[in-house]
Amino acid sequence: MFLSIQVNLFLLKFERRDIILIVGLLLLMIGLIPFMTPVYAAIIVIGVYFLIKFYVGRKSQLIKQDVGEGICMECGSKIIDKKCSNCDIL
Ligand SMILES: [Zn+2]
Repeated sequence: MFLSIQVNLFLLKFERRDIILIVGLLLLMIGLIPFMTPVYAAIIVIGVYFLIKFYVGRKSQLIKQDVGEGICMECGSKIIDKKCSNCDIL
């Protein structure tokens, strides 16, 4: 129960961070438009977005390796043998 709340908070935080990232990149694009055509500004911003996504993805992958096999997205229990120790008990 406690773990599942933690996972939900983590997902919420991640989404909010994503929105902040997109807003920041939009502002960057607006800032770049006076210096170049909007198409180039958009390409640069999309490039930066994917770089950040790639970096964040790699980082969360490293965190996942640290945790072990990970935690269940349904309940937050530990994953053992690719099965949730809580949901997948038959
Ligand atoms: Zn589960």
